[in-house]
Amino acid sequence: MTPEKLVRPEILALKAYHVAPAEGMVKLDAMENPYPLPEKTRRELADVLARLDLNRYPDPSAPKLRALIARKMGVPTGMEVMLGNGSDDLIQIVTLALAKPGAVMMYPGPTFVMYAMNATFFGLRAVAAGLREDFSLDAQAFIRAVTEHNPALVYIAYPNNPTGVLYPEAEVLKIIEACPGLVVLDEAYHVFAQKTFMPQLERFPNLVVMRTVSKLGLAGIRLGYLAARPQWVEQFNKVRQVYNVNVLTQAAATFMLERLDVLEEQAARIRVERDVLGKALRALPGVTVFPSQANFFLIRVRDADRTFEALKRQGVLVRNLNSSALSNCLRVTVGTPEENRILVNALREALQ
Ligand SMILES: *Cc1c(COP(=O)(O)O)cnc(C)c1O
Repeated sequence: MTPEKLVRPEILALKAYHVAPAEGMVKLDAMENPYPLPEKTRRELADVLARLDLNRYPDPSAPKLRALIARKMGVPTGMEVMLGNGSDDLIQIVTLALAKPGAVMMYPGPTFVMYAMNATFFGLRAVAAGLREDFSLDAQAFIRAVTEHNPALVYIAYPNNPTGVLYPEAEVLKIIEACPGLVVLDEAYHVFAQKTFMPQLERFPNLVVMRTVSKLGLAGIRLGYLAARPQWVEQFNKVRQVYNVNVLTQAAATFMLERLDVLEEQAARIRVERDVLGKALRALPGVTVFPSQANFFLIRVRDADRTFEALKRQGVLVRNLNSSALSNCLRVTVGTPEENRILVNALREALQ
């Protein structure tokens, strides 16, 4: 008996999410915060973690951490916070809960590939619509597609990954109003865009706001959260793995959220560097830079495969997205000033 005979055909047809080996590279492929924690903070965190009882299961509902998130992140009163093992976990939970036979998922695409992968996992039909050639949002086109396909679930990455584009708030509001089903605003880059739909939760019963601490500087601990009406969270909780957020993550997240200013200060430096890097990239001949409100840039070059390999030979790892929807596109994360200089020089060399 071989896997081909037993595994679902749609799973056989998938390619696993690819993570490139990065040892010894200038790592600009995964939107990580490049700055380490201050030495003093690291030592204090180590003390906190050393006192944990790892023989005990985690608290499955983590009320203190959820309350801390609600307070620090401006979650409106009356809304419920739910935690995930990264927001990837939350995408899986929400999609699974809504996966009735024949249900449709929609998103302005191209966008984060995990939405489509989860549609495949749980048997939803995924429909991408509503982005123009320059990856700006055509809300009217999206709403027409909504009318046609009647999606149970809509994901909007705000700002979008892998393009970095932040859609106009008024256009997104029109989409939320026009959607008959649940709309998830994925605000993974909130700290860089400084725009949010969190206050709109009070207005729209079909809205979920999803975030992660990954891009903020804690990608290693795997913590995502969403805010929604309690009625939604009650249902999502039924499909959540009971112990999805481990003891170490709960403690580290609590510790760091009490020192959120440390991470927000790093994010502010990244926002400044984003502008510097954007200017330097735009000055390179033969490079198109798409406008970004995140901590990365989508760029288009003449030959993305060749440029990607040439960067790699120079020790710089970026993400090659070359495909039909993103022809000759690379995605580069904003790093430290030094990393960004290395990137721009390597790119200049690679484009020769
Ligand atoms: C990175 C990213 C995520 C996943 O974040 P994790 O919390 O690390 O799983 C979700 N959505 C978007 C749009 C992202 O770019």
